[in-house]
Amino acid sequence: MTFLALSRVTGMPISRSKQFVSLPLQGLDWKWLQNVRWMNEKASPNRAYIPTTIEHIANVVTHGVWVFPSVVASLELIDRATSWPQYWSAVVYGAALILLFTVSTFFHSVFYCNSNTQLKDVLHRGDRAMIYVFIAASYFPWLTIQPFPLTGWTAELWWIVWVLASLGILYQQLFHEQYKCLETCFYLFMGIVPSLAIINMHEFSGLTELKIGGFLYILGVVFFKADGKIPCAHAIWHIFVVLAAGVHYYAILNYLYPTVVTLDSNP
Ligand SMILES: [Zn+2]
Repeated sequence: MTFLALSRVTGMPISRSKQFVSLPLQGLDWKWLQNVRWMNEKASPNRAYIPTTIEHIANVVTHGVWVFPSVVASLELIDRATSWPQYWSAVVYGAALILLFTVSTFFHSVFYCNSNTQLKDVLHRGDRAMIYVFIAASYFPWLTIQPFPLTGWTAELWWIVWVLASLGILYQQLFHEQYKCLETCFYLFMGIVPSLAIINMHEFSGLTELKIGGFLYILGVVFFKADGKIPCAHAIWHIFVVLAAGVHYYAILNYLYPTVVTLDSNP
């Protein structure tokens, strides 16, 4: 089986990188569009799904375009910080946000170009590890800046979520591409259970946005598990991640980093 396409002009094979550059230019070619392979066969158990060319490109683009905005968004948090908890939260959450999109884009680009299998494997592990890191980092500003008084065992959540993330990463390194459904359950457990504890015990501004974001992540998991069943399923999962992270960022920015309004006493 070959993954090389042939040039229409010369009949010679086109490299992956050249296909990547030339494909968007063929966007108006309807014949090409009709011949697009939107998805491949579902992967067998314990094997990674092989995306089609269009799926590879969608995977790179849907996260790639958010690398730069995530840098700007993180700098905005740092700029608004007026206390140490706010500053550290901006650094931790911002770094996780930037790394989430950067590692994902790098992994999907290398996977598409298929130039280095070992590098692809390392980046795939990094991409999955970033999910755990980003879940823990999403809790971080709320548990560090504390817009609500943490009582009982919820006061311990600050370190519990990082221990859960570390255990998740350790498990994922040991059993990479094995028991994949169990891994998805771990993501859901870490994203849902600590948040339920907080929701049950506290009422605070931003809770609605946190619930909407959480719901979008959970809805996205349906597509995360649908490779080979729904065309471009993984890219759709990426879009849900962007939407959910966007809603959570909006809540963090508005409720944990409000702009300080200075009243001018001399109008
Ligand atoms: Zn991805």
